Amino acid sequence: MRVLGIESSCDETGIALYDTEKGLLAHALFSQIEMHAEYGGVVPELASRDHIQKTLPLMQQVLDEAGLQRKDIDAVAYTAGPGLVGALLVGAAIGRSLAWALNIPALPINHMEGHLLSPLLEANPPAFPFVSLLISGGHTLLVDVKGVGEYQLMGESIDDAVGEAFDKTAKMLGLGYPGGPALAALAEQGQEGAYVFPRPMTNRPGLDFSFSGLKTFALNTWHNSDKSEQAKADIALAFQTAAVETLVIKCRRALKQSGHKRLVVAGGVSANKSLRAALDAIPKVQVYYPQLQFCSDNGAMIAFAGAMRDQAMVMETEATFNVRSRWPLDELTAPVSA
Ligand code: ATP
Ligand code: MG
Ligand code: FE
Repeated sequence: MRVLGIESSCDETGIALYDTEKGLLAHALFSQIEMHAEYGGVVPELASRDHIQKTLPLMQQVLDEAGLQRKDIDAVAYTAGPGLVGALLVGAAIGRSLAWALNIPALPINHMEGHLLSPLLEANPPAFPFVSLLISGGHTLLVDVKGVGEYQLMGESIDDAVGEAFDKTAKMLGLGYPGGPALAALAEQGQEGAYVFPRPMTNRPGLDFSFSGLKTFALNTWHNSDKSEQAKADIALAFQTAAVETLVIKCRRALKQSGHKRLVVAGGVSANKSLRAALDAIPKVQVYYPQLQFCSDNGAMIAFAGAMRDQAMVMETEATFNVRSRWPLDELTAPVSA
């Protein structure tokens, strides 16, 4: 079965074709980052309009790359939430219309389930059960995963997501938007121990996170520094070290609590090298990641999540659809055999 995946929840248009026998056939991505950069963040209306322009050409590109035609698609999986409603509506409308026209099933996919399952696209996928650490621009989640659709929330951020904290700290240091990767790069020039930031919420039990204080700590440290390039790099390193160590402490706790021996990390921040090194150093635990290009938003993870749920695909008889700006992972259920 060949599943076409459509991702349009935020500022990336991602399209992919996944074959349940042959694996990923082709994928394409257009990032709107440059368009939103001058505003310092994503402008929802501009995002929607751009998805409208990019979705069909990218779909054609993916089909051409795979040497296939529309009639060769067996099902359409599209992101139905969480995300920006206008942006989601574009992918949902195009996906559902295409499925309707081709008389094939369409499946609404939860974007965070897409991230969660993305490491399973790799050559040596993790077996269930595992602990999932989802770290992106909008989420910081620890999930006990027993199978596809069997998700139990263990912990989450009570304020900023970790990616958001990277971005806000980067912006404050003048590193542009989205600054996560730039901040990580600058941290490499920092001197270890020049500043020490707190590890929020690690000195009490529980698996929730709080990252907004780190950003404020970085701001105060910057104002009290000599504002040199070195101070900037030292702050970047101190921030990253604190964020990474906090994530590692909570992951160890979640692994201990669940008894699982596998940790599966996904979302944009899972591209962070220093985080990967620190997680890989946890003893007696196997850690799995998506390949770098599939850490942040992409169509491959949506096509794949659709394929994982293929038994749950039903022919939609009504020409209606819905998207959700909020859609908690633990509302999902396991696919049931048709
Ligand atoms: P969500 O998935 O929660 O809706 P999103 O889709 O916007 O949010 P992603 O695309 O998964 O999030 O990830 C983007 C985030 O990852 C941004 O905050 C970005 O700064 C961060 N990021 C990307 N690379 C790195 C890195 N190397 N180090 C730290 N953060 C990074
Ligand atoms: Mg994005
Ligand atoms: Fe995302």
